[in-house]
Amino acid sequence: MKLIENWFSERYSDNLQLSFRVKDQLLSVKTDFQRIDIFDTYDFGKLLTIDGTVQMAENDEYIYHEMITMVPYYMAEKVPESALVIGGGDGGAALRLLELGLKRIVNVEIDNHVVELSKRFFPEVSKSFSNSKVELIIGDGIKYVSETKEKFDMIIIDSTDPVGPAEGLFSPAFYKNASRALNKGGVLVTQSGSPFYQPFALKKAKKGMESAFSGFKTYVAFIPTYPSGFWSFTMNPTGSRKLDTVKTGKYFNKEILEGSFKLPTFVNDILRS
Ligand code: SAM
Repeated sequence: MKLIENWFSERYSDNLQLSFRVKDQLLSVKTDFQRIDIFDTYDFGKLLTIDGTVQMAENDEYIYHEMITMVPYYMAEKVPESALVIGGGDGGAALRLLELGLKRIVNVEIDNHVVELSKRFFPEVSKSFSNSKVELIIGDGIKYVSETKEKFDMIIIDSTDPVGPAEGLFSPAFYKNASRALNKGGVLVTQSGSPFYQPFALKKAKKGMESAFSGFKTYVAFIPTYPSGFWSFTMNPTGSRKLDTVKTGKYFNKEILEGSFKLPTFVNDILRS
């Protein structure tokens, strides 16, 4: 008997898509903010998608989460103790920050469903939310940074792409407010999309960063489940601190800390345009 094959595809353009063969679709829900689907895939384990775009896959989430936390952690001018995560409803960024030894993490996620579903389907990643050092706030990160009086050593924008509820997270007004919530010598970092398929996201992040700081720094990583497999992150320029040792992750290491800032010419061209 021939079995039926099921596939989830994320469309990158009218002419290209990445397809995951799935064992099962575990859930599909439409929330006030977005559509969330969870699949059990053959090659990448469980997969979380929002509005048809991959957010997190069990088998490569470590790359994104290490890169959005470990690089900025070591780029801060002094050892960071506190962090604000905006988005990040899967708990992965908070988890890596706890592993780095941070003492206080405020995580502001707009959609409670992302948190609840991550607790149910990705308990190993979302367990960070049950740690007493992590304060989870369900709310809009844009509003949060415009109102908070607290200051942080790290601010991590672990958001969806710049459409829908995350659009304002790429605006100059947001970066201005966020920079006010940053301690001196601290790091503000955002995921800035696929340079190949989403150069507009990278440009927006760069512009926003430049409007609030004296410049920007972009670094890149290989992430197989994200569009083109090549991803960017953009942060404010910082001074440096003396690093005796650097933790090695499954992706991140000492060489990556330096090497990820070396950009291909086409990425430099986007950043210059
Ligand atoms: N790793 C992911 C990626 O780059 O594809 C991002 C993962 S995380 C699940 C993104 C989260 O940002 C989503 O759960 C979404 O609900 C949240 N988000 C979007 N806009 C937001 C906002 N304005 N405030 C707080 N959270 C927001």
